[in-house]
Amino acid sequence: MFHPPRCPYTSCSEHRSSRARFYRRNGYYHPKCRPHPVARFLCLSCRRGFSRQTFRCDFRDHRPDLNPRLFRLLCSGVGLRQSSRLLGLSLRCTELKFRKLGRHLTHLNLNFRTPLPAGSRLQFDELETYEGRRNTRPLTLPILIETRTRLMLWAESATIRPRGRMTQARRRAIVRETAKFGPRRDRSRPSILRTLRRGAALTRGLECVVFESDEKTVYPGLVKRAFKGQVVDHTRTSSRLPRDVRNPLFPINHTEAMARDLVSRLRRESWLVSKKHAFLDLHLQIYMAYRNFARPRFNRDNPSPAQLAGMVERLIRPTQLLGWRQDWGSRSIHPLATRKTVRSVAWSGRRAA
Ligand SMILES: [Zn+2]
Repeated sequence: MFHPPRCPYTSCSEHRSSRARFYRRNGYYHPKCRPHPVARFLCLSCRRGFSRQTFRCDFRDHRPDLNPRLFRLLCSGVGLRQSSRLLGLSLRCTELKFRKLGRHLTHLNLNFRTPLPAGSRLQFDELETYEGRRNTRPLTLPILIETRTRLMLWAESATIRPRGRMTQARRRAIVRETAKFGPRRDRSRPSILRTLRRGAALTRGLECVVFESDEKTVYPGLVKRAFKGQVVDHTRTSSRLPRDVRNPLFPINHTEAMARDLVSRLRRESWLVSKKHAFLDLHLQIYMAYRNFARPRFNRDNPSPAQLAGMVERLIRPTQLLGWRQDWGSRSIHPLATRKTVRSVAWSGRRAA
């Protein structure tokens, strides 16, 4: 039997308290998409009704059964159109589902963060991609990982100015775009700084932060700003070295190669592309949840990166990742809690800010 842990309305006083009997049962309803009835409740404080569904990520979905399937497709290099064909959904419906999953998993990724254990090492690199048009709208994509566990700590995209080889046609296209949208801004530094700060928040307890990157000249200054007050041992490796397993940056290069393969819109030489980089960021959050919680670190391994980093005890199945809603921070129900254990499975005590 499901016992609601709190009132789902954030304005209600029973949302923050966790009194056991703040509600009374209020019958059932029969959703079209489920075979079993769903219990309804009434909050005794705000007198508003809710049900078990109000606590779930697929709240108000017509086809909740397709969410884990769409999640798997989106982490397997399949694009939105092909996913919609495979699932028998309209393209628009698939797009909206994708965005909903992306927003939900962004909350989940943040809720799970705990400080990294001693001996953790960070690696950082930037990947280049584009939105809309390859020759005029490039993007940079900073990625930060923990080396041993392969845990992806953060990845996001930012606009950069077109650079590299200029042909006549490319110059003309850039002039046309500039006239239409204004000059393209270079937002890479704030984006790198945000990514590094995600790492800084998780390494405050470490005596020394071991940080590895390539030799790009802006990195030392940005690392100093992001890890202010922390001792950082920054090793830089030339990006001209062969990118094989002996390269010190192999873990981050390998992470990037996997992302290029499994996030459809990062693939090279393909028709798939993000029209807006905000949606690339949502796709990255979906991939991050898959990589960190649902997939073992290596093929020969059992534990996931998040398990090895001490954030969670076991692998999390896609149905569990897409179960309880996560937009209430630590007040959200833990993804591994079942209907019966919503009150007893709690978030880890040493959560990071
Ligand atoms: Zn209430």
